[in-house]
Formats: sequence, structure tokens, C-alpha cells
Amino acid sequence: MTDRFDVVVIGGGIVGLATARALLARSAMTSLLLLEKEPRLAAHQTGHNSGVLHSGLYYQPGSLKARLCREGKAEAERFADEHGVPWRRTGKLVVAVGASELPRLAALHERGLANGLVGLEEVGPERIREIEPHVVGLRALWVPETGITDFERFALAIADEVRGQGGAIATGRRVTDLRRVSGGGGGTQWLVSTADGAWLAGGVITCAGLQSDRIARLTGHEDGERIVPFRGDYYHLRHAARRLVRGLVYPVPDPAFPFLGVHFTRRIDGAVWAGPNAVPALAREGYRRTDVSARDLASSVTWSGLWRMAAPYARTGLAEMWRDVSKRAFLRSLQRYVPELGIEDIAFGPSGVRAQALAADGRLVDDFSLGEGDGIIHVRNAPSPAATASLAIGRMLADRAIERFGLPTTD
Ligand SMILES: Cc1cc2nc3c(=O)[nH]c(=O)nc-3n(C[C@H](O)[C@H](O)[C@H](O)COP(=O)(O)OP(=O)(O)OC[C@H]3O[C@@H](n4cnc5c(N)ncnc54)[C@H](O)[C@@H]3O)c2cc1C
Repeated sequence: MTDRFDVVVIGGGIVGLATARALLARSAMTSLLLLEKEPRLAAHQTGHNSGVLHSGLYYQPGSLKARLCREGKAEAERFADEHGVPWRRTGKLVVAVGASELPRLAALHERGLANGLVGLEEVGPERIREIEPHVVGLRALWVPETGITDFERFALAIADEVRGQGGAIATGRRVTDLRRVSGGGGGTQWLVSTADGAWLAGGVITCAGLQSDRIARLTGHEDGERIVPFRGDYYHLRHAARRLVRGLVYPVPDPAFPFLGVHFTRRIDGAVWAGPNAVPALAREGYRRTDVSARDLASSVTWSGLWRMAAPYARTGLAEMWRDVSKRAFLRSLQRYVPELGIEDIAFGPSGVRAQALAADGRLVDDFSLGEGDGIIHVRNAPSPAATASLAIGRMLADRAIERFGLPTTD
């Protein structure tokens, strides 16, 4: 006899966990199982990121990213307070070093206002020095709402709540097959299989991060996008150099490059990280430069979108790859903002791998995106700021599931 759950969530990162939490809160009669392939939760992107509670500055007004980041950050701060997860509003300085960056800084300010940020302030060198005494720049945008936390601890606190609400969480269970089967009363349901067990589900929500395209393909859901992984390496400042950065210091984003650029991040434990850069990863879940997966590499290089994307980004891409192998090149990009930093002040730190959906025409899918089918919802693209936005994303997914799977609500 196969156990049956109203909903099975696949993926024990922050998005899957937040979705399970929201579903149990909004549909109390629902039985729920969350399956995670790793022996522990939050093992991939959720446990390998910058730890920044983003303010919502960068995103296209009206996009899911813009809305859910604002809502999610406010909820995340409340959740962290209620569950004893450490967080702090540090503020962040986006610094223009060259005159050519000033129009982009002004445009960023406008965008922040359009997204409803409060307290934004464009400042000159004197105020920059007041906020960050060792940082130089022509002008900067001060973003007081930005904060920091530890998303792994955050995710584990969500997991505790899921269990407390009656949800089941099973780790070490890699979903290998998803199949539509007939259920009682003429309806259909999903058979969710792993190597050592199978479960029936009225509805399935997949939140598989770096594997999201593969999981979607198991159900025949193909929408012309593939996950192309980008590794980001961090350096950390040695203890004596931490005094050089108080909070968060970011470059003005380069429109010729889809990521935010190498930045300084003070961590919740007091450490200061510098990075991450962004280079194509040779393995989706490999955290060392030498990690290679033949399957993942083949998946990227056979994807026409990769080559179409690579052409316009070729120059910045090559610079990033050089910076990846040269500590001195990395240091030079940091010294633009903190000239006092020396080679002896930085040491290799950890790495993360970003799951970025890439369309066949080479377009990087910018916004969060979902795919939906009969009794199933796939999270197709949940890059940064999805950790900040996770509780709001979870709420949105729970509402979609209640509607699509016909679940009872608490109200
Ligand atoms: C370097 C880096 C820096 C970042 N910085 C920030 C930041 O400062 N602020 C911010 O808000 N966001 C940041 N992000 C983005 C953020 O970390 C992610 O958007 C977020 O963690 C996505 O969560 P997720 O649950 O979708 O994915 P993940 O955390 O990757 O979780 C997906 C889970 O699905 C599991 N899974 C996959 N396939 C299967 C299967 N077949 N069966 C069972 N389980 C499966 C995986 O093992 C994994 O645990 C950063 C990301 C990176 C990589």
C-alpha cells in the first residue's frame, strides 16, 4: 500500500520549505510531504549565498522580483524576530567610482523609488567616508533598508515550523520519477518515486533549484529553457582587514553583465566576504573550481542558448574568468572601492552555484517564473533575491496550489 499525501513538495531549499509552510498555514486540512535528495536541508543555493536581505532596489518595477522581494523581506524580518534567527539592517552603499557610472547610479535611484524603497539618499565623497571610512567613490546611493541574515538557519527555522504544523520532511530522498496515475473516483494523481520508496500525491510542487529543468522534464514539461549554472567564488578578508568594511559595499551594476558584480558583504557572524564573481560552472552542484560533471557540462554546452548568450557578454565574461584564476585581478576589482586592501588581506573563501534559467534564444530569464500542468506546479527560475523573497514566494505558490489542486482553505 503506497502512502498518499495531498501535496508533495520536491526540494528542501528555502523556496520548497517556505512553500510547505505557507500551504500548511493556509490549508490546514492538507497532508504534506517534502522530499529532499541530500542528507540535510538547505544544502545547495540556500546554504551557499551572500546572506543579504535585499531591499528590492534593482528589479524591473511591476515584476514578481520587485513585488515579492519587498513583501518577502518585510515578512522575513518578522519571521527572524519571532524565531530567533539573527539578522541586522546594515544598509548598503552602491558606489560609483568613475564618471561614466553616474547616469546608471541616478537610474538606479529612480528605480528604487519606483519600487517603493524608503530612505534612499544619493551622497558625495564626504558622506561616503562617514558611512564607510575606507571606501572611495565619486558618488554613491545609500540604501538603508538592506540587511543581512543567515539563510541556512532561516531555512532550518522554517523546517521546524513545517514539522510543527504536521508536515513530514524526508531527507536523503532523490525523486527519480514522476508519473500521472489514475486515482480513486476517476481522478488522477501523481506517483512520486525515489530509489527506496514511492508516494501518491494529489498535487506536486517542484522547487528543485539547480535541477529544476530536469525535474520539469520528468513530467514532460518542456518550455524552451534550461538551467545554466554560474559559479560564484568568494574571498574573505583576513581578521585584521575586516575593519576596512563596516556593512555592504556594491558596485553600480554593469548592464553588460547580468549579475550584481563583486561586492563586499559583512556577514552576520562578523566576517567580511568579497565576491562572488560569476563564471560558467562545470558542475551544477560542485563547489570547487576543479569540480566537473560530464552530464552538467554536456547539458550546458549543447544548449544553443548558452552560445547565443555568450556572444554579447564575451568581454565581461572573459574578464570574470581571468579574475577567477588570478587573485591579483580579483584584488584590483576590490581596490577600486577599498584602495587600502592588500594582497595579504584576502584569502580564498567558499563558493556558490547560481541556478539561472536560460532560454534557447540566449535570453537570461530575469524574473521568477513558474510552469504549471495538471496537478503540478514547477518553480522554473528562482535566482537572487529568492532567498529574501522566499516567504512571499511560498505564499504565492500556496495560493496557486490551493486553486489548482482544489485544496480546502482555512478561511
Ligand atoms: C552565490 C550566490 C549568492 C546569492 N546571494 C543571495 C543573497 O544575498 N540574497 C538572496 O536573497 N538570494 C541570494 N542568492 C539566491 C538564493 O540563494 C536562491 O535564490 C535561493 O536559495 C533559491 O532557493 P531554492 O530553494 O529555490 O533552491 P536551493 O536552495 O538550491 O534548493 C533546491 C533543493 O532541491 C533539491 N533537489 C533537487 N533535485 C531534487 C530531486 N530530484 N529530489 C529531491 N530534491 C531535489 C536540492 O538538493 C536542493 O536542496 C544567491 C545565490 C547564490 C548561488
